Amino acid sequence: MLNGKRVLLIIGGGIAAYKSLELARLIRRRGGEVRAILTKAGQEFVTPLSVGGLTHDKVYTDLFDLTAEADMGHIQLSRDADLLVVCPATADLMGKMAHGRADDMASTALLATDKPVMIVPAMNVRMWQHPATQRNLTQLIADGVSVVGPREGDMACGEFGPGRLVEPEDIVEAIEAKLGGTTLSAGVLAGRKAIVTAGPTHEPIDPVRYIANRSSGKQGYAIAEALARLGAETHLVSGPTALADPFGVRVTRVETAREMLAATEATLPADVAVCAAAVADWRADTSTNSKLKKDGSGQVPPLPLVENPDILATLSASGTKRPRLVVGFAAETDDVIEHATAKRARKGCDWIVANDVSPGTGIMGGDDNTVHIITEGAAEHWDPMPKAQVATKLAERVAQALTS
Ligand code: C5P
Repeated sequence: MLNGKRVLLIIGGGIAAYKSLELARLIRRRGGEVRAILTKAGQEFVTPLSVGGLTHDKVYTDLFDLTAEADMGHIQLSRDADLLVVCPATADLMGKMAHGRADDMASTALLATDKPVMIVPAMNVRMWQHPATQRNLTQLIADGVSVVGPREGDMACGEFGPGRLVEPEDIVEAIEAKLGGTTLSAGVLAGRKAIVTAGPTHEPIDPVRYIANRSSGKQGYAIAEALARLGAETHLVSGPTALADPFGVRVTRVETAREMLAATEATLPADVAVCAAAVADWRADTSTNSKLKKDGSGQVPPLPLVENPDILATLSASGTKRPRLVVGFAAETDDVIEHATAKRARKGCDWIVANDVSPGTGIMGGDDNTVHIITEGAAEHWDPMPKAQVATKLAERVAQALTS
């Protein structure tokens, strides 16, 4: 439920704008309040009258409308909300946001806000795939903007591919997850300390090369943010990622597994540790200070590997310093539950969050996740859902375990 949460809905000019009407209705039905800004292009697709009919409020359309400014200035409008949702986020709006432009009510509110921002892109598949749009997307993610979708499918323009707006029911789920739509009180973890590891590690081979993996860090970052939302003093130890620091979380950025272990141990004691990082299992035995060179002989240099320390197992076995609850992850490609159950025993942790990362699931680097929670003698299967929602649910489970 969104009880009393305030969403500022910014409706861009795309064919999918009509779906924002359904989104406004669903937000209200879940107990949220919604106020809308309709861009000039948006008005070509839906009218202020229909938007206002669903938000039960005035609709904001023009930056230079003196009556609207006297009523509620654009700065106040952007700060009064708990979350700004741009739906549909057009290529043009994404471009404006990425470049900090502010020439109308929507872009000005987006630049003036101090609140989290979510975009729900929808556009023609070629526009979505264009390097300019992808560049803007990368910038927006780095700026801390949450991105929901787009989905792949048939498009109004007759083409097929990524670019379809996510369905309003799923958008409202993502909003709920982002706003911590939880049955628990926001301060339920106040006074508790949480450690989260996230992202890949980079293990140097020489000064320019390293061993790495495809982890994006999204799931771990979302978990850190969700624990902080419940009031925990949260410390995220992150490997190299393209993500912005989550709201309300202290972040230490590291490169290697050994640095991650040291930074994690330095934050002990803690009540809970969630190890979501995809730590490299091995590192090069001797990383050299000079770049390895081809010598023309056709011989490849030897690359002996040594095992990295296991952070999860180390935390689980840290005696009096052991967090009361230690949660690990298991990314598997086959026999997910069986392997994850064995991993739980081997690492000595309390829970394992297992997921299938076979190619084709889109989980590695994607926005959705399908997880199974392995506890002592039990496995709980969760439906596919956005990573933000997995994070909210997991943080709730942690809160229940720590407060029972
Ligand atoms: O053994 P595997 O890498 O599959 O185990 C995954 C779990 O162990 C994750 O929770 C990961 O964060 C943790 N791990 C760790 N240190 C390592 C390897 C894995 O903390 N060196």
